[in-house]
Amino acid sequence: MGSDCLFCRIVAGEIPATVVRETPATLAFRDIDPKAPVHVLVIPKEHYADVATLAQGDPALAGEVLATAAAVAEDEGLLGDGFRLMFNTGAYGGQEVFHAHAHVLGGAPLGPMLARSIA
Ligand code: AMP
Ligand code: ZN
Repeated sequence: MGSDCLFCRIVAGEIPATVVRETPATLAFRDIDPKAPVHVLVIPKEHYADVATLAQGDPALAGEVLATAAAVAEDEGLLGDGFRLMFNTGAYGGQEVFHAHAHVLGGAPLGPMLARSIA
């Protein structure tokens, strides 16, 4: 994928990001347009289009993404009051960047899980 993928370019150091945690296989950096006081994205360094592809293709790496997300939540002081971990997936899920990423959101009450419930 590489040069066509925004998050692969962040992994390659071609686009700057505010990195908060790095492991050999994962990277965590602040979302450029935060939707909560804490909004960090956690990605596998290897390119997978979405979390379903990641979990089916490399379950251990999917687990590493979760472990990094938990470490970020702890570092950011979110474990006490709680936080939200979200993987937007595909068109209905509202995914905009097609490199698997977890959103770690917290620092304030986040409201209902979805903006609108089924009518
Ligand atoms: P999603 O809609 O789940 O695909 O989320 C993509 C997220 O990537 C959005 O929350 C964007 O604000 C965020 N984003 C886009 N470009 C960048 C960037 N260069 N650095 C950090 N976050 C970004
Ligand atoms: Zn990528």
